[in-house]
Amino acid sequence: MQRYYFDYAASTPVDSDAIKAMRPYFSDRFGNPGALHWFGQEASAAVFKARSSIAALLGCHYKEVVFTGSATEANNLALRGAVARWQELNPSAVPKIVVSAIEHESVLETCEALKKTGAEIVIVPVDDKGIIDTKKLKSAIDNRTAVVSVMYANNEIGTIQPVSEIAGIISNFRKQMANNRKNTISHKPLAISHWPLFHTDAVQAFNYLPCRTTELGADSITLSGQKIYGPKGVGILYIRGLAGNNKKIIPIITGGGQEMGVRSGTENVPAIVGFSKAAELVSESREFETKRLRKLQEYFLMRMEKIIPTARMNGDRKNRLPNNINLYFPLNSVGRNKSSQDLIIKLDLAGFAVSPGAACSARVCQPSHVLKAVGFSDERASNSLRITFGRQTRKQDIDKLLAAFKNIIKH
Ligand code: PLP
Repeated sequence: MQRYYFDYAASTPVDSDAIKAMRPYFSDRFGNPGALHWFGQEASAAVFKARSSIAALLGCHYKEVVFTGSATEANNLALRGAVARWQELNPSAVPKIVVSAIEHESVLETCEALKKTGAEIVIVPVDDKGIIDTKKLKSAIDNRTAVVSVMYANNEIGTIQPVSEIAGIISNFRKQMANNRKNTISHKPLAISHWPLFHTDAVQAFNYLPCRTTELGADSITLSGQKIYGPKGVGILYIRGLAGNNKKIIPIITGGGQEMGVRSGTENVPAIVGFSKAAELVSESREFETKRLRKLQEYFLMRMEKIIPTARMNGDRKNRLPNNINLYFPLNSVGRNKSSQDLIIKLDLAGFAVSPGAACSARVCQPSHVLKAVGFSDERASNSLRITFGRQTRKQDIDKLLAAFKNIIKH
């Protein structure tokens, strides 16, 4: 049976050029990059080249790029590392973390864990389109805030957050704090404070949106190999200022002091090489792919409105990633007793892979926290599905998917 993949937000196939670049580092060039001999230096040079290439794409210093074992780990490092450093500087105060309500579990669960250690967590709501309320975010920030984390683009509904605006809010807050302090201790010139740090999870955004560090204005940025046509098991945390002496993040994995001392453990050389190749290729085709997928997204929605007129779009129609569609099918609207779970299973049996949303995996199925944060009922949050396009998606595949929808609702 011919199979069609519409779950690119979950994972992407590794680009053949990335595989080619990685291959020698599994066998011939297997050295430990920490070793002094020729084999080690060969691997170390590959890691350096990959780091420099990613730094060029992000517009940062190569020493600001930290390789991790996943985006989940990068998000953990960004939050836990920042809170730990803030606590070192303010030992008697309660640290505060400000996050949006629609962050990925790797951020929200980390906040839950930090709450158990005494941190205060402020969850900022989003509007009915899934866009963060920046006024509420601004009023949540105070001098106890160690870190603010707002994702660039959401993995379930694809909505794009005003990251640069948020960076501006934080930067103004810091300036105000620095001024206040200057006025109270007039004899001591003080550098602009670095707190709170601003972190953004750009895992879903990198394929389609500009990710230069200067434009985003974030202090730390998370990326993932498996979402950009690179390998699984490798992520990145960009950390502003890591090249200097500015210690803002305390490591959460300690040991050999790799990755500028921020993330110990022998570097996964093949995965790092594959990540950088994939990132280069994505950057080259970003504009073209964004336009191509935007057209397919509009085409799909236009056709779907005719096939299942009761289907409702979740999230913002315009301010969203070009590859993301998230639809609610009211119960019974697609034929008697056909929930979106039934739809997904029937589509899968017909060869079409779509997703019930990130909260639903082969292991657990709960109403999506993202759809609930947007203000939808449990029923809507449980009866929606996510269709995500990618590099291999063609118009004829979409026509086949639409035909499969049509066929399922008829029977
Ligand atoms: N952040 C976002 C927005 C994601 O979509 C994902 C994965 O779905 C992650 C973080 C975690 O990525 P990984 O599972 O590669 O650690």
